[in-house]
Amino acid sequence: MELFTAEKINALEPGPHVLFVAGVHGDEYEPMLAVEKLQHSLPNQLQKGTITLVRVANQSAFRRSARCGDDQMDLARTCPGNPDGSLTERVASGLSKLIETADYLVDLHTGGVMFDISPLAGYMLHPDETILEMQRKMAWACGLPIVWGTEPTPQGRTLSVARDAGIPAIYLEYGGGTGIRIQAVAAYQQACVNVLSLLEMVAATYTPQPESEVFWVEDYRDNSGYLQAMMPSPIDGIFVREVGLGRFVKQGDRWGKVVDVINGTEAEVFCDKGGMVFLRRELVNVKQGDALGGILPISEPGKIVIYA
Ligand SMILES: [Zn+2]
Repeated sequence: MELFTAEKINALEPGPHVLFVAGVHGDEYEPMLAVEKLQHSLPNQLQKGTITLVRVANQSAFRRSARCGDDQMDLARTCPGNPDGSLTERVASGLSKLIETADYLVDLHTGGVMFDISPLAGYMLHPDETILEMQRKMAWACGLPIVWGTEPTPQGRTLSVARDAGIPAIYLEYGGGTGIRIQAVAAYQQACVNVLSLLEMVAATYTPQPESEVFWVEDYRDNSGYLQAMMPSPIDGIFVREVGLGRFVKQGDRWGKVVDVINGTEAEVFCDKGGMVFLRRELVNVKQGDALGGILPISEPGKIVIYA
């Protein structure tokens, strides 16, 4: 049985091979809808090259309405996987092999049911300057308000496979929680078409946002892109949030509190840095150590670089 479905669209004229992947996490739905729509719209638009579309990479996780599949492994921590391993390891192996056949990768995510995240295009700060510059162009082309480059050492991701294979790769984040955000589906479709336009594979053109209007952070510090480690909850309990996405905060501002309703105690939570709120916990029943949100260290539009 096929582990996931990969639909190929070929133009008559040769050109690059671009891979769009959704559903690496089973509870991130807008990317799946966006890729499904692209499957119908791109055949009429594609002038050059090949596109491969994966609507749901992690079908086991999707069936569970969860981030991870039946074996509880996170596909985004399991690449390049193992063809003889558990289900997620086999999916990781198949997906990694597919990535290695591509010239460019766009991996579409959301915050899942657990988090709400501001629209952003991210990439690893690849040591190869040519690849890095291409990733910057791809991320910028997406037209999302935040562009985020983070240190390049993480393993297990689709982007790790692309990094090691020298394939320019970006990932997208937008929204999460419950319900469907139609605007995220539309923004993702547009982002993918813009990347194809950048690569001159479609006739459609786009106007890049002025760099001065993009919140653009390149952060070379260790674990700079590791969302699940941000602002850990001090205790188990119910997270009561006080700050909204897109707000600007100072280090030490109140973020909210966690109320342990079993033991009748509570703990206040404060912003761990100053900047723009871009990640917020949505599923409110939290365990000690769970990320409660994230702050991007930027306070006005424009590009900043933070060195290790
Ligand atoms: Zn994800």
